[in-house]
Amino acid sequence: MQATSAKAVLGSPAHLPDAQKRREARFAPVALPNLAWTPEVARETAHLYEKVKAIIPPIEWPFHAPYVKAINELKKQRNAVILAHNYQTPEIYNCVADVVGDSLQLARIAEQSEADVIVQGGVHFMAETSKILSPDKTVLIPDSQAGCSLAASITGEDVRALKRKYPGVPVVAYVNTSADVKAEVDICCTSSNAVKIVESLGVDTVIMVPDRFLAANVARQTKVKIIAWHGACEVHERFTPEELLGYREAEPGIELIAHPECPPEVVDVCDFSGSTAAMIDYVKTRRPKKVLLVTECSMADNVAAETPGVDFIRPCNLCPHMKRITLPKILDSLVYMREEVVIDPALAARARRSVERMIAVK
Ligand code: SF4
Repeated sequence: MQATSAKAVLGSPAHLPDAQKRREARFAPVALPNLAWTPEVARETAHLYEKVKAIIPPIEWPFHAPYVKAINELKKQRNAVILAHNYQTPEIYNCVADVVGDSLQLARIAEQSEADVIVQGGVHFMAETSKILSPDKTVLIPDSQAGCSLAASITGEDVRALKRKYPGVPVVAYVNTSADVKAEVDICCTSSNAVKIVESLGVDTVIMVPDRFLAANVARQTKVKIIAWHGACEVHERFTPEELLGYREAEPGIELIAHPECPPEVVDVCDFSGSTAAMIDYVKTRRPKKVLLVTECSMADNVAAETPGVDFIRPCNLCPHMKRITLPKILDSLVYMREEVVIDPALAARARRSVERMIAVK
C-alpha cells in the first residue's frame, strides 16, 4: 500500500525535474479558438486593420481577423513570441508579429526575450538559428517544409570536403545555412557584414558558402581572394539588368535598391545595395518619391505600410518557401505546439560558436 502511494507521489508534478515540468506546462492542451467573424472580432482587431488597410482590401479582412485575434490571445497564454522575417505577408508582419527583421536580428532579439516559446515566421534555417541561440526555448516552425534554395545547396559534408580540398583556408558561411553547415565552418556572416567578416580573418584567401552572388559582390569590395560555392537564392537570381533598366526608362526618377544576393550585374545598375534591414532603412530615411526594391515582393508591401507617400513599383518575385507560412498554420502551431525544431545539443553548440564569432567582430 505504501509503495503504491510512494509511486503515485513520485509521478506527481511536484517531483518531476524542473525542465520536464516546464516542458509539460508549455505543451499543455488548449481549447480550440472560435474562428467566426463577429462584431467583437471586428472591434478588437480594428486597430490592426488600420496598419494594413492600404494593402489588404476590406473584403479580405474578415478572413484574416479571426485568426489574428486567436493568435494574439494564444501567444499570451503560451508565453510565446512570433518572429516575422521581412518577407512574410503583411497580415503576419503587421498584425501578429512581436519582432520583425532579418533572420539574425530576429534570432538575437528572441534570445533576449523572456518568452518560453518562439514561433518562427520564416524558413527552416531561421528557426534553427533561433534554436541555436535559444537552446532552452521551444522553437516552432509552422511549416517544416519551408526551405531555402541557398540553405539546401550545401551540407555539412560538403563543407568538410571543401576543407579537405583547401586545407587551412577558413570557411565563412552566410547565415542562410543549416545548423549542420554552421557547425562545420569557422565563422558566419550576414549580407550586411560579409566584407568585414572576410577581412577580420586576416588571411589572403577564404572560402565563402553558399551564395555565389553574395560572394561575387563581396569579392569586388576586398583584396581577399574568395573561393565561392555554387548556391543561389531562387528569388534574387531571377532579376536581370535588362528588366531593371526597363523600369528605369518607364518610371523616370525611380530609385533601384538591390539585395546583395542579386547577381553583380544587377547590383551594377542599381542605386544602392544592402541587406533587407539596410534597404528598409534607406527607404525610411531617404523617402525616395518612387522606388523599386529588388528583392522578395512582400517586403515592399510591408515597408509601404510604414512609409506613406513613397510610391513602390513592384515586380513580384515571391519566395515560395516564405509563403508556406500562413495565419492558419501559425495558429495551428500555437494550439498543437508543432512543429518543434530539435537540434542535437553538441552540434548546436558548435554552430553557436560560428554565430558568436561573427557577433564578436566589431
Ligand atoms: S528569398 Fe531566397 S534566400 Fe530567402 S528564404 Fe527564399 S530562397 Fe532562401
